[in-house]
Amino acid sequence: MPDSSPLPVRDTAWPNLHVSRHPAILHKLAILRDERTEPKKFREVVRELSWLLGYEALADVDVRPIRISTPLEATDGHQLAVRIGLVPILRAGLGMVDAMLELMPTAEVWHLGLFRDEKTLRPVEYYNKLPDSATVDLCLILDPMLATGGSAAAAVEVLKRWGATRIKLINLIVAPEGVDLVTKAHPDVEIYCAAVDRQLNEIGYIMPGLGDAGDRQFGTGGSQ
Ligand code: URA
Repeated sequence: MPDSSPLPVRDTAWPNLHVSRHPAILHKLAILRDERTEPKKFREVVRELSWLLGYEALADVDVRPIRISTPLEATDGHQLAVRIGLVPILRAGLGMVDAMLELMPTAEVWHLGLFRDEKTLRPVEYYNKLPDSATVDLCLILDPMLATGGSAAAAVEVLKRWGATRIKLINLIVAPEGVDLVTKAHPDVEIYCAAVDRQLNEIGYIMPGLGDAGDRQFGTGGSQ
């Protein structure tokens, strides 16, 4: 029976991990996991979940007061006071970008290509077009699956070297192994997700997970 509170759950072992318990997220997550869900529907649900998780992840960003006029009178309003950078990890993170841009239309998008060496399970960087120095205040790393945590930790390192001072990870499903690795290596990084699954299997897939998030979005899984 899931926790009935719609507020994100904080685990004392991982104080920087926010696990959403929102009923809309729980419902959509089951659709995403279901092996019968076709790529078109899968992409749609990745997008919806990303929006909902992004909404939670952005709840504490700074705003500054502004003065505006309605058609009737002047009033006080707010404006975002931070520059946000979206960093989708190629390729599975691409499906999360549009939803985040809907939330934050002025966000910059910086793509990072990291693939997992199937033998060592270590991340290998193959695409990085970040400018010389950081142009944003808050980076949101987008990747549906936080598995071993190797790619996420490598992405955080790249962004820190770039000059990013505040970094959050938005994942749909995380494995305990990945959360451990990222939070130990980068205790300042917060992680937002829809579920913490049981464990990784012997080839680094999250169990029960949803399979390969890239293949399921882009229909490249063959007979899978
Ligand atoms: N990447 C995926 O797409 N799925 C997993 O289970 C682990 C890594």
